Amino acid sequence: MSFTLAIVGRPNVGKSTLFNRLVGKKLALVDDQPGVTRDLREGEARLADLRFTVIDTAGLEDATDDSLQGRMRRLTERAVEMADICLFMIDARAGVTPLDEMFADILRKKSANVVLAANKGEGAAADAGVIEAYNLGLGEPIRLSAEHGEGLNDLYTQLMPLA
Ligand code: GDP
Ligand code: MG
Repeated sequence: MSFTLAIVGRPNVGKSTLFNRLVGKKLALVDDQPGVTRDLREGEARLADLRFTVIDTAGLEDATDDSLQGRMRRLTERAVEMADICLFMIDARAGVTPLDEMFADILRKKSANVVLAANKGEGAAADAGVIEAYNLGLGEPIRLSAEHGEGLNDLYTQLMPLA
């Protein structure tokens, strides 16, 4: 059975890098797809034998008179409504920030299926952030390096039973 996965989290944690990796060379097609909103980018993902729809919550970086928090909250709530599973991403090198805590609150309240990913997980600089991620109360974090393609096996292991 197919499912929809939304990648959520504050700007710059690596959401689009993971999206691109999961969607691979189909990305160009995705970008040209008519009707795709600027804020939510959708693509067809492959992860080993899993095939699913992935949503990247983009557009957060655009400066508007709206607050980043408000914009993120609305985008995240929309993504949660559209998705079967949310991948909540933090930057393990930065550790858990107040914005991350805000996301965790939204996700816990919406009680979606949440998979927690501590990205930028390559190297010892990420060790403390991965440990901190346990405190978000969203289960065991997947130590991921979207850029280097590490931890995708653990992502698979967490997604498979939810698929
Ligand atoms: P987004 O704003 O959450 O979509 O984040 P991006 O995917 O645009 O990535 C933000 C920055 O983090 C870029 O410079 C990426 O190259 C970098 N980045 C993404 N994943 C990793 C990773 O696993 N390790 C490291 N060191 N950098 C990463
Ligand atoms: Mg992005």
